[in-house]
Amino acid sequence: MSNKTIPYKIYLEENEMPKAWYNLRADMKNKPAPLLNPSTKQPMTKDELKGVFCDELITQELDDTTPYFEIPKEILEFYKMYRPSPLVRAYRLEEKLNTPAKIYYKFEGNNTSGSHKLNSAIAQAYYAKKQGLKGVTTETGAGQWGSALSMACSYFDLDCKVYMVKVSYEQKPFRREVMRTYGASVTPSPSTETEVGRKILATHPQTTGSLGCAISEAVEKATTTEGYRYVLGSVLNQVLLHQSIIGLETKAALDKYSIIADIIIGCAGGGSNLGGLIAPFMKEKIKGERNYRIIAVEPASCPSLTRGKYAYDFCDTGMICPLAKMYTLGSNYIPAPNHAGGLRYHGMSSTLSQLYDDGLMEAVSVKQTDVFKAAEEFARIEGILPAPESSHAIKVAIDEALKCKETGEEKTIVFGLTGTGYFDMAAYGKYHDGLMENYIPSDEEINNSLLQLPTI
Ligand SMILES: *Cc1c(COP(=O)(O)O)cnc(C)c1O
Repeated sequence: MSNKTIPYKIYLEENEMPKAWYNLRADMKNKPAPLLNPSTKQPMTKDELKGVFCDELITQELDDTTPYFEIPKEILEFYKMYRPSPLVRAYRLEEKLNTPAKIYYKFEGNNTSGSHKLNSAIAQAYYAKKQGLKGVTTETGAGQWGSALSMACSYFDLDCKVYMVKVSYEQKPFRREVMRTYGASVTPSPSTETEVGRKILATHPQTTGSLGCAISEAVEKATTTEGYRYVLGSVLNQVLLHQSIIGLETKAALDKYSIIADIIIGCAGGGSNLGGLIAPFMKEKIKGERNYRIIAVEPASCPSLTRGKYAYDFCDTGMICPLAKMYTLGSNYIPAPNHAGGLRYHGMSSTLSQLYDDGLMEAVSVKQTDVFKAAEEFARIEGILPAPESSHAIKVAIDEALKCKETGEEKTIVFGLTGTGYFDMAAYGKYHDGLMENYIPSDEEINNSLLQLPTI
């Protein structure tokens, strides 16, 4: 243990900030399975992906041997506007819980978009600009990714076209206006702008949309419009690569004060913040240099790791994207409505899926009302009003700290606080009014959805 006093917030100096992203796949013994072409069932090639993604991002996506990718200077400049992000010691929470555990959280909510998603959005926008493209298309569910991408695109003067799940478009007008403030155009999905949208509307005129459907629309728009490509805010290897900035900073901050983490916790939707946070720690674990407990937290309503199957599946409902091998609930699985929109994806990053399958990390699922209880407790004692997604990690950090209280162990717990919840006050309202429900799918529901997995 260091005898330096540990500050309430650990910041890195500008010159201590990471200059390269870390690609965990390079050190994995069992590599994540490759994306497959849905018609040939063969691994996707660079050429096949060229019409969909930006060239440099395809290189990053397919590379599982290069450990470090230098961060371009333009991106480092942008990162400096809101990074390094603080690693905060939750002294007050520890005191309130009366636990011998030491709790730290890495706070990624200190930018206007309100979450870690900006770390990858700015990288993706940069590579699109460098390639001379006019713009990018994407989908957004709850709106965090769309907000981050619109900020990134306005910085590099790129056109940004967002398909927003119709129900969110109507229920989250403030998210929509953030995107429009940064110059993005926002279309409720399904729309009449694309063939796939028109088809869906013809068969389901009353539909309020889904993430899978918005993805199909955004991909179609990108592949049929000159000078446009499609970008995605989670799940993909390239996104985990960019998000490694979170873990690298966390590791550097801990090392600076000779602090050694015992337990690392993060919420998992598509897996990008968790994949980024754990990257340098998992490297040590794989190499046998240090043993960390690493815990993914998912909602009980969308439990891909804890109750899904490790198999090849479609990434979208329209079944036009490549197949990915992942823990999945089936691409037709529509999670019951819950208030953590960023955690409602049916699958999980193929990198995290492989690590989980290899027994290198654990996963737990938590109920929505327990999550909001933890969120409120955290807000009242630590000040930050957390996003519902992030609060999944808070809930399990508190649980682990309380276990330490029972056993008297002085464990060091680090968790990712991915964002703020200012646009989620309707959800907090439901919780306060006692109207929040816990949806937990039955085995039958999950099994029925899994029956529809593609055969490989
Ligand atoms: C999108 C989002 C998540 C989940 O996405 P991952 O790719 O799993 O990290 C978590 N927290 C916040 C605040 C988000 O916006």
